[in-house]
Parts: sequence; structure tokens; C-alpha cells
Amino acid sequence: MSTPVTHPGEPILQVNDLKKHFAITGGLFSTITGFVYAVDGVSFSIDRGETLSLVGESGCGKSTVGKAILRLFTITEGQVVLNGQRIDELSSAALRPLRKSMQVVFQDPFSSLNPRMRVRDILAEPITNFGLATNEAEIDERIGKLMDKVGLPRDAVNRWPHEFSGGQRQRIGIARALAAEPDIIICDEAVSALDVSVKAQIVNLLCDLQKELGLALLFISHDLAIVEHMTHRIAVMYLGKIVEKGTRDQIFSAPMHPYTKALLSAVPIPDPDAKRERILLKGDVPSPINPPKGCRFNTRCPYAFDRCRSEEPELRQMAHKHVAACHLHDLPAAENPLLTGTIKNA
Ligand code: SF4
Repeated sequence: MSTPVTHPGEPILQVNDLKKHFAITGGLFSTITGFVYAVDGVSFSIDRGETLSLVGESGCGKSTVGKAILRLFTITEGQVVLNGQRIDELSSAALRPLRKSMQVVFQDPFSSLNPRMRVRDILAEPITNFGLATNEAEIDERIGKLMDKVGLPRDAVNRWPHEFSGGQRQRIGIARALAAEPDIIICDEAVSALDVSVKAQIVNLLCDLQKELGLALLFISHDLAIVEHMTHRIAVMYLGKIVEKGTRDQIFSAPMHPYTKALLSAVPIPDPDAKRERILLKGDVPSPINPPKGCRFNTRCPYAFDRCRSEEPELRQMAHKHVAACHLHDLPAAENPLLTGTIKNA
């Protein structure tokens, strides 16, 4: 039985203390030998017409968050609330009509479209499944409008997916998501596989559609440079946890976590005279099977001190809408390198 937990004016999507631990099994009897702590207590919300970007290196758990929201598997703990209704505990049958509100655009436009279906049939499927048209003429009218919206010619509906470029296929993927008339679209690395110029076109298209339709977007990306010009807020993930969350300006102008600083230092600056010192992180993200004790970032953090290796920092308020999890903020401001701007490499 689902429980309404929000009220009018509520966010489109709320994720409360979400955890997803995958069991590792082994031996003759497939006994559980451990867990992959892929997502370990993640919370955020997204309002109508808002874009929240979930960023972090590959392996940080951000795509698992997207899949958990889409209910591609059962979550371990927490809540996922869509339009005021908990969906994490619904049966597949009860969830089916609610899927209309929440659509997805995947990373790979080559594998996410059925190669044996013409574009018309790909777009007709959600329209029919969610009862949005009563006859073929209505379906065709909707499909024509969807093609207009994503900037593809109407007469391309009779073509097969393989006849399109990567960018055009991603436009078809977006049209398919829009066909259901959703409230929110989850874009899971939706532009990562595309060439740089095509990336910008697809990001611009998503922004335009968002403004026109009042859509909420959860934009999952490993690349802060992509989200810089299109997001309202950013949540930075590291090893299954959110380590910093804030508005775009807060994250880009005043990052309050060493990991965010390091990610930002790799973002190219368009002004050739402007300088941004690069912070190089040692090694890869540690295994989520056995995350480091204390702060999970301590094995790569250039500022780590003893406390970081024993005590996990909580997210704390830095400013309105801005939180970060780092022990450095317990130091006097003059000794906090994140505030004094002292760059240190690992
Ligand atoms: Fe670095 Fe310590 Fe802050 Fe973690 S708590 S980010 S290890 S300084």
C-alpha cells in the first residue's frame, strides 16, 4: 500500500535516504559473501521545471540511483516519491500507470531503440500504452508534433533506427520519452556517447523542451562541463553518497568539498587568459564492496587528516540550498584551505 507523503506544491520527485546494496554470492550454495554498497543513503528532490544534475566519476553510484528511481530493481532502503506517492513499494502492476509520469533517455542511442521497429512504431508505443490517443489519425498527429518538437522531419517516421546518425537517434529517444507526456525525464548519461558539437545540440534541445513543457529533468552525467550551462542545481556523488549539493552558481563559484573542487579543476575554461589550477586525484574510485572507513574520499583527498580516516562527515549546511560533507569546515575559516583557496595536489 503506497502512502502519500507530500502535499500540493510538492516536488515532482523526492528521494529519501535511498540505499541499494547488491548482494555478492559465491560457493556451491550461492551464499551471500558480501555486498556492493552502490548507493548508501542518498536524498534529493526535484521541482517541476527544474533540472538537477547528479555528477561524479564512473562507479560513484549515480546511474544506480537513476535505475532505482525507475524501479529497474528493488531498493534496499529509503523512499522514492513521485508526485506525492511512494513508488518504491508498489507492485509492478500498480506502478505501470505511474510510469507515464517518469520517462528515461539512456546513454546509448544505438542500443536503446529497437532496430526492428520503424520510428513511427517506436513513438506510437507509449502513446498507445498510456491511452493518449483513440485512433490512428490521433496517433499520427501526435507523432508529427513530436517529430517537430525534437527537430526531425515528419517524413522520417517511416525509417528504421539504423538510418539515423547518433544525434538523430538521441532525438528519437527524447521524442519517445516525450510521447508519454511525462512530468520528469531521467537522462542517464544521455549525451556522453555523442560528438562534442552534437552534445551541445542535444543539451540545448533538452533545455528548450524543459522551458516549453515545464518538465523536470534528472541529468546524470560524469562531466561537469556538460551540465554547467543547463542545470539549476547539482548533487555531487562519491562512492555511493552525495558529498555536496547546491545551486549551479554555488557549486561552480564556491565549491565546499575537495572532490567537487577536483572535478571542477578539470573543466575547461573558455577564456584563454583565465587560469584554473588543476587538482590531480590519485588513483580510481575505491571499490564500493569495501569503502574506506571514515570519509570515503580520504584515500584520494589532498587535505585528509587523522579524523577523516575514522569519522564519516555528515552533510552540513554551508548556505541556503548548499550542503557539503567535509571535516575541514570545523576548522577556523583562516585555516580551511577550501575557504582560503590554498590548492594542494594529492
Ligand atoms: Fe578530505 Fe577529510 Fe574533507 Fe573527506 S573529510 S573530503 S578526507 S578533508
